[in-house]
Amino acid sequence: MRGILACSVVLSAASSALGSWIPYSELKARSSNGLLDCLERAGLDPVVEGDPEYATEALPFNLRFNWKPAALVYPTDSNGVAAAVKCGSENGVKVNARSGGHSYAAFALGGEDGHLTVSLDHLRHLSLRGDEVTFGTGNHLGDVALYLWENGQRAMAHGTCPYVGSGGHAGQGGFGLPSRLWGLLADQIQSLEIVTADGTIRTASHTQNADLFWAATGAGASFGIITAFTAATHAAPDSVAFSYTFADYGAEEASKGLQAWQQFASHPDRKLDPAVGLQIHVEPNDEKDVVFSVSGVYYGADIATVNATFAPLLAELGAPTSVSLQEQDWIASVLSLGGASSVAELNTTLAPDGNDTFFATSTFVPAAAPMMGRAASDALFAYFYGPGARTDVEWFVIFDLYGGGDSVVTGRGADYNAFDARDALYSIQYYGTIPDWVSDEEGIAFIQGMKKAVEDNQPETQFKEYVNYIDSTYTAEESHKRYYPTHTERLEELKDKYDPKRVISFPQDF
Ligand SMILES: Cc1cc2nc3c(=O)[nH]c(=O)nc-3n(C[C@H](O)[C@H](O)[C@H](O)COP(=O)(O)OP(=O)(O)OC[C@H]3O[C@@H](n4cnc5c(N)ncnc54)[C@H](O)[C@@H]3O)c2cc1C
Repeated sequence: MRGILACSVVLSAASSALGSWIPYSELKARSSNGLLDCLERAGLDPVVEGDPEYATEALPFNLRFNWKPAALVYPTDSNGVAAAVKCGSENGVKVNARSGGHSYAAFALGGEDGHLTVSLDHLRHLSLRGDEVTFGTGNHLGDVALYLWENGQRAMAHGTCPYVGSGGHAGQGGFGLPSRLWGLLADQIQSLEIVTADGTIRTASHTQNADLFWAATGAGASFGIITAFTAATHAAPDSVAFSYTFADYGAEEASKGLQAWQQFASHPDRKLDPAVGLQIHVEPNDEKDVVFSVSGVYYGADIATVNATFAPLLAELGAPTSVSLQEQDWIASVLSLGGASSVAELNTTLAPDGNDTFFATSTFVPAAAPMMGRAASDALFAYFYGPGARTDVEWFVIFDLYGGGDSVVTGRGADYNAFDARDALYSIQYYGTIPDWVSDEEGIAFIQGMKKAVEDNQPETQFKEYVNYIDSTYTAEESHKRYYPTHTERLEELKDKYDPKRVISFPQDF
């Protein structure tokens, strides 16, 4: 039942994006023999339906989906990736890269049946040259963080979960708590190696194939298969993790809390240090009481600096029900943000990742007035503390500060790369795990209700969204409007240039 419901939601988006739907059986009969022969000739040993490992290999992180790739391959180098792309292209089979497989819509498995998934699991090389790291896109964030720490205590800004893949994450942004200090992971990339749809292995940087580099650092999933990144690294700073919990807030206090938080974060005179990574978490506890907390990490600071920095905000928020301030070194902060208890847990080759059955979507709140106006935040928190306290969906919401002060993320300028939200003050991620006894439609509608509360109460703002929190219900047109409102035209032109036959393709592609 679960699979059928999930498909009905996503296929309605996919089919309207693609025009006509081709059944998998037809696709398979039409192309897979040629495809498989080609892959075998290239020594790629494809995994196909019927093979004992197919079910595990085609299992997505998000169990709402059940896409059936025509084949999965595991090249060991860029030449193998190029051969796979050519096989797909020559046989009319669409191709997708899989790095960490954490796409919320399982787009590495095609986002529909019958694609060729090029899994980058074997591209796990890592090397440092001076302050620059080069890593294969089979590495996950934990692997990269661990390598950098163990080789000179270096660091980059990236997301928190050790198992998120570097390919999808950096290719489409990649936000972490140090991003206000160092930028998105995509912004830290100096150059990359990519196999484009014609099977050519290209290097792209700010000076070489610069248009491709621009597109692949923000809309990376559409422009080929990135096989390696070279990125700037930084000396890994110590930090203070801080958390102020307000377990006794009701909806009204929480809405006022958000208003105070966004004013504090964007204060024009008292500029917030870019070394502050700042969040709000809202989620129900085990008793289904909704809990509001302000937390984050202040890099390079001590506890006295944290206390002085947050005093004006706490004066507005009132007395927290609990406070935590923890001095830590860099790797301790990586572990605690990633929910890991030992350094070994960052090495993703040692244990498989888990899965979830969920729906998520997002909002970027612009820095321009009114940011999130009072009516929208009142409606949002009324939803959290009302329906949110009664639902069986296991939800959480995270507000991540992107801008404010001299943030490097927003300081890059609107067109630095394809990432299209440099005007954002913060993102909101709405995430819900849908238990077995709640239908997917119901779970999705519950999470969508959060975003709707904001949009319905601030219709004058065209809110952007974050492509790495990809919303599986969108058509291609809707997704472009939300993820790339000012970059769509250029991305379409570049797609025509680098992939005129739409070999690399998924339902929200260009
Ligand atoms: C538990 C969890 C925690 C997260 N935390 C954060 C966070 O802190 N910050 C944040 O910004 N995001 C976060 N995300 C979102 C995450 O950044 C995206 O889901 C990201 O796209 C996952 O990348 P992946 O390589 O694991 O996924 P995949 O499913 O492998 O890929 C995602 C998309 O990118 C394409 N792709 C993958 N590799 C390549 C490549 N090498 N070349 C070209 N295209 C490629 C795929 O085809 C697919 O379309 C989180 C996600 C999860 C599930």
